[in-house]
Amino acid sequence: MQDIILVKLGEIILKGLNRRSFEQKLMANMRKKIAPYGNFSVYCLQSTVYVEAKDEEADVGAAFEALKKVFGIITLTRAAACEKDKDAITALAREYLKEDLKKAASFKVESKRSDKSFPLTSIELSQYVGGELSEAFPDIKVEMHDPELTVFIEVRDKAAYVHSSPVKGAGGMPVGSNGKAVSLLSGGIDSPVSTYMIAKRGVKVIPVHFFSFPYTSEAAKEKVLELAHILEDYCGKLTVEIVPFTRIQEEIRDKCPEEYFTLIMRRFMMRIAERIANDYGAKAIVTGENLGQVASQTMEAMASTQSVISMPVLQPLIGMDKEEIIALARKLGTFDTSVLPYEDCCTVFTPRHPRTHPKTEEVEKAESALDVEALVEEALAGIEKAELF
Ligand code: ATP
Ligand code: MG
Repeated sequence: MQDIILVKLGEIILKGLNRRSFEQKLMANMRKKIAPYGNFSVYCLQSTVYVEAKDEEADVGAAFEALKKVFGIITLTRAAACEKDKDAITALAREYLKEDLKKAASFKVESKRSDKSFPLTSIELSQYVGGELSEAFPDIKVEMHDPELTVFIEVRDKAAYVHSSPVKGAGGMPVGSNGKAVSLLSGGIDSPVSTYMIAKRGVKVIPVHFFSFPYTSEAAKEKVLELAHILEDYCGKLTVEIVPFTRIQEEIRDKCPEEYFTLIMRRFMMRIAERIANDYGAKAIVTGENLGQVASQTMEAMASTQSVISMPVLQPLIGMDKEEIIALARKLGTFDTSVLPYEDCCTVFTPRHPRTHPKTEEVEKAESALDVEALVEEALAGIEKAELF
């Protein structure tokens, strides 16, 4: 008999009446995630989700690793199965948790039984197994209040299961339980992290990338697709919307005062992102902006950028330090790709002296030589939808 995986749900427990639909969403996401590793049955009982292999071919170890990246899971553990007999359970605990029992200074046994026909009560079973384990591992002492190791036993319908303390899951809420948002994804360090953070809050993200060929290269685009691919581990399947941005940037260069180049460019990004969001029923725009990091990330600059749309702009990195962002990027596995040396459209036609504290009216005036609507329409018409590998 194969191991089973036990999953504890995170915040969704708090969600009252919505709880059932949150659980369903989480289980659907889990099923999708582990489908490549074989046939599993996934079901929920009393705020615990059980993942059971349906046959010997299913790869439980790989499924367990994959589930560590599913949002909505607070902890998870693998448990070993045996027949429902106190001595079989004891033998399994001795073998399965041998290393933990050798290492820990103190332990206790905690039992649960959903099969009420099992001849011992939970307490009797814990006492029996605890006694046997004490004899087998004389160096570890029984400690009921704050033991280093807890041996968990569950007697269920099909079998009995033994496991040790669970490991931490990805936390957050199941992707799709909190609506959709368009996430602006550059090839930098920040925006993959902001995309991850919003997905963690249960949002299905639609990545959008502005591409200024030939000022930015094919390789720069590939880098963004690679970043999106890494994020799929957490965000589920993604399709990147690649927006042709060259013409807009050239128009800005030719017709607007240099000190406003970046601000005007960012206003175009917002308008286009909002239109894409509307097409998908998405309700917000996500960026990797961080207060004071660059000239376009002062409060005045962000006010001018955001004034062209009415949707909320979510900026999950706004108050973080660069080191904190980098630490997260490393954890997600996006950092090494982000630092590859390809240019971004933000570094094309960069003003020598950008306005850092602009008034929105000034920016509007600087932009007035452009046919904004026509440029937005043209860019939208040229969008390429990039499926990932
Ligand atoms: P990042 O590391 O994410 O590129 P950054 O610190 O370099 O961020 P900016 O270049 O000013 O900052 O960009 C701010 C935000 O605007 C980015 O985090 C991203 O959300 C969005 N953005 C910038 N360039 C692009 C682009 N080419 N395509 C899509 N979004 C972009
Ligand atoms: Mg950037």
